[in-house]
Amino acid sequence: MLQHRQHLTNQLGGLCQELTEGLADLSEDDSWVKGQCEVMRSQLFESDGGLTARGVRSVSQLLLGTRERQQELRAARKAARDALKDSIHEMLDEIASLGAQTGRFSSQLDGYADEIDRAESLESLAGTVRQMVAESRAVHEGVSQAQARLALEHSRSAEMQARVVELEDEIRRLSDEVSTDPLTQIANRRGLQQAFETEQAKNQRAAQGEGATLAVALIDIDNFKKLNDRLGHASGDAALQFLTHRVAQALRPGDTLARYGGEEFVVLLPGTPLDEAQRVLTRVQRTLSAELFMSDEQGQVFVTFSAGVSLYRPGERLEQSLERADEALYEAKHSGKNRTCAA
Ligand code: GH3
Ligand code: MG
Ligand code: MG
Repeated sequence: MLQHRQHLTNQLGGLCQELTEGLADLSEDDSWVKGQCEVMRSQLFESDGGLTARGVRSVSQLLLGTRERQQELRAARKAARDALKDSIHEMLDEIASLGAQTGRFSSQLDGYADEIDRAESLESLAGTVRQMVAESRAVHEGVSQAQARLALEHSRSAEMQARVVELEDEIRRLSDEVSTDPLTQIANRRGLQQAFETEQAKNQRAAQGEGATLAVALIDIDNFKKLNDRLGHASGDAALQFLTHRVAQALRPGDTLARYGGEEFVVLLPGTPLDEAQRVLTRVQRTLSAELFMSDEQGQVFVTFSAGVSLYRPGERLEQSLERADEALYEAKHSGKNRTCAA
């Protein structure tokens, strides 16, 4: 029975993977969809390729939140585009009618030229000239009205164009949002990878001169299962939010705090040697354990975390630094928790 379930889960996992891959190929606006699919994949599957219930939950949440906004924006963009098209059609009509009016006038001028040639008396000549003046006044008026309408259409279409650009920016901004974790509002795995790539580039530039240091810390909340069991999942979520907020406050502006998964976080500390990174994390642990506790009828539950720090080695992938940090984290867990060990 269990084996059968496992088999089904694996098949479902494979299907999800194919779907997320296939989606990107089907879409015309692929920068957004590719981003979405990347995040879905990273949230759905553990590093060993297994599908997790949490992953599925967080992906549905992510999709639900962004899908509606996307649809709204797309509809608004389509409306603005249609209005722009209408505006261009109006201008074309205007130009066509202007062309017809002036065309009629010029053929009338030919007629007047003939009349003038044929005119026998001064009086008939004066009559033709009066007609010509009246006709050219009418044409002049028509032209200036058309010009005014064209100017109006022109400013309308400029407005529409600006609106389309604005909406496209908004769509782009929204796709950046998938770099953020919805519960804690800090970077998710995708955001972490982006921040890491920025740091890596700086690191490479610095490597030619004085070597820059980048410390990488992995944080895991202590006994979190127990907290969830005792206080409920919602309290667990609140603890995650509070902890994130406090840790972010304690770090320097150039540091990156990201939610790596469930109750695991990663901190990137640029320009920080290993021993200093260990001190920074230990300091955060002390302040946190003094103030982060939750209570129920049975008393207080303190929320603490353990951490492992490692030093990034130029040229390696983030996962490689994280593996060493994970070994140090393991040591922290096994030597009493609520402490930071260095790799
Ligand atoms: P340890 O001290 O060894 O880390 O023990 P632990 O209980 O924290 O063990 P582990 O790290 O394996 O457990 C993680 C738990 O965190 C399991 C899961 O139910 C819970 N969890 C993961 N993500 C969330 C979340 O988003 N919200 C809540 N409330 N709980 C979560
Ligand atoms: Mg854990
Ligand atoms: Mg834990």
